Amino acid sequence: MAGNEAGHGAIVRNRDLIDVWIEAPRGNRKQVVYEKILSLIDITDEPSKHLKKNNDEFLFLIVMTPLRLIDMETNKVLWKNESPSSTLYCRPIKFLFKKENADLVRNTEKEIITKIENTIPIEIKTKEGHSYIIDVDMMLTMLDGIVGDVLSETNSTMKCIICGATPKDMNTLAGINRPPNVDNYRFGLSTLHCWIRFFECLLHIEYRLPIKSWQVRGPENKAIVEANKKRIQAEFRAKLSLLVDNPKPGYGSSNDGNTARIFFHNPQTSSDITGVDRELIEKFAIILGVLASG
Ligand SMILES: [Zn+2]
Repeated sequence: MAGNEAGHGAIVRNRDLIDVWIEAPRGNRKQVVYEKILSLIDITDEPSKHLKKNNDEFLFLIVMTPLRLIDMETNKVLWKNESPSSTLYCRPIKFLFKKENADLVRNTEKEIITKIENTIPIEIKTKEGHSYIIDVDMMLTMLDGIVGDVLSETNSTMKCIICGATPKDMNTLAGINRPPNVDNYRFGLSTLHCWIRFFECLLHIEYRLPIKSWQVRGPENKAIVEANKKRIQAEFRAKLSLLVDNPKPGYGSSNDGNTARIFFHNPQTSSDITGVDRELIEKFAIILGVLASG
């Protein structure tokens, strides 16, 4: 349900939503925008066709992030975004409450590329009579897994879009030397899931530490691992206010990028709770930090 969708009973302007998004408290923005849309659309016009109440699972969001401002005459960098992976300077361009699929992704790519090609320089005049011309050089990048998969024509969400490795290849050392498809670098490398998987990898080792075996066999071992899991979850909640590995209906588990970041940013507390070596947690954090700073 985006602004210029034709054929619906109500039109919601993206510009209104963007204002709502910017003003909404962080962490609660999706819900606030969703409620705004509900208040704007004509509910009598088969609302279930547009949005099911409390169902915002199909949010397809296009966001702009400024990276730097350069003086074209001197090449001097006037301003630089120090946290390009953070949502701090992200500004939404468009909200689509639709399930992402190959057609939607390709059509949206075309639309955005056309818009990028048609951007014109903006002239800003100051009170003092100075005039600045701002030209933009935009890139379509930082895609999520499914979008990257469609646009790189990898055609399998299980495969790496850079080197085409399958999960089986990733488990062999020989897979390290796979030649990269340099063209696909332009899509960016989203490290969000690396944080979550690194965290979950350690978490699953932690649960099993008392039995020192990956496979949990027999009722006795199952009870030990389950009790240890409960203890770890309770301690994360008490010491770091983290909900760890709680099932979230419709979304998998409560482990997200923030859970993982807090875990890796508090190596001593995380190590005390889990019994995993502090140095290992720190080394994982270094790898993740390096990946995120590319
Ligand atoms: Zn790869």
